[in-house]
Amino acid sequence: MNPYWSALARDLHPYVPGEQPHIADLVKLNTNENPYPPSPKALEAIRAAANEALRLYPDHEATALRAALARYHGVAPENVFVGNGSDEVLAHVFAALLRHDKPLLFPDVTYSFYPVYAQLTGVTCETVPLDADFRLSIADYRRPCGAIILANPNAPTSLAHPLAGLEALVAEHADIPVVIDEAYVDYGGESALPLLARFSNLLIVRTFSKSRALAGLRVGYALGDAGLIEALVRVKDSFNSYPLGAPAQAGALASVEDEPYFQTRLAEVIAERDRMTAELDQLGFEVLPSATNFVFARHPRFAGADLAADLRARAVLVRHFAKPRTAAYLRITVGTPADTGRLIQALGEIVGV
Ligand code: PMP
Repeated sequence: MNPYWSALARDLHPYVPGEQPHIADLVKLNTNENPYPPSPKALEAIRAAANEALRLYPDHEATALRAALARYHGVAPENVFVGNGSDEVLAHVFAALLRHDKPLLFPDVTYSFYPVYAQLTGVTCETVPLDADFRLSIADYRRPCGAIILANPNAPTSLAHPLAGLEALVAEHADIPVVIDEAYVDYGGESALPLLARFSNLLIVRTFSKSRALAGLRVGYALGDAGLIEALVRVKDSFNSYPLGAPAQAGALASVEDEPYFQTRLAEVIAERDRMTAELDQLGFEVLPSATNFVFARHPRFAGADLAADLRARAVLVRHFAKPRTAAYLRITVGTPADTGRLIQALGEIVGV
């Protein structure tokens, strides 16, 4: 044990990101990245922002980007908070809104960063089991709690929860913050956006990393009542006032303004997801009905860990979570049609069809 470490650093259980290896001819389906490039207009804006003005600090309020997001979502700029990826936004959400005397609730199978943030920010949490089909029951959240966070659609299950249920949850828990992480919502979930005007306890978190193909730029945001946003700004300005550089602000703004490109790529990934699902089904996989850019699938005769290792040996990378409820499954990102071809061919060899 290094004697210079704080007790905090020593006791952390950090999140383990998906691998980013350099393997020749790799099919990379392990981190839910977009297989297509970002909008050419975003790339142009990023390049244009690489100029001598970089000597100056960026706009700490990201005024133009927040205004563009507000227009896009039909809210006011004071309802928008931006950060360095939705992971950073979530970290601020934990510190600003989720730490209370009563525990934070979230499902037992969900984004595995939530317990990590809880530990970092001193949030007591309690997990609420999803049912045997990984479905959420709103009734299970009727227990003493200080806050709730859900991913909708959920990860790694890929399942979307209907908006009516979430509305009931937000309404029932009007006295505490309810956070909905919509990282994958563009691929088929119902957004809680229509609820924002009516519920001052609702915060929605979004990312540019998936449907906008800008994982490398690190831009995420939150939408909610101005009172909730103010708490996030207070935490941000106690941590790093300039989370988004000028190129990131410019690139994200241009992406938001290129709706035709966004819709075209979205449709391509959704169509490929449905085709990939049918092909996995042909190989005997059980595939959960995905509302995301990945699928969660298991094979009745093969262990998830073995499948993941055998795929890796064929230079196809998928994600496996070695936890009791998820060990049988693979989480497979939707790639290009060529990626699906390589995946299906490799799996065909492995499962012997
Ligand atoms: N929420 C969920 C549910 C995710 O799967 C991810 C991606 N790992 C994130 C948030 C964070 O994405 P980013 O930090 O790239 O915005």
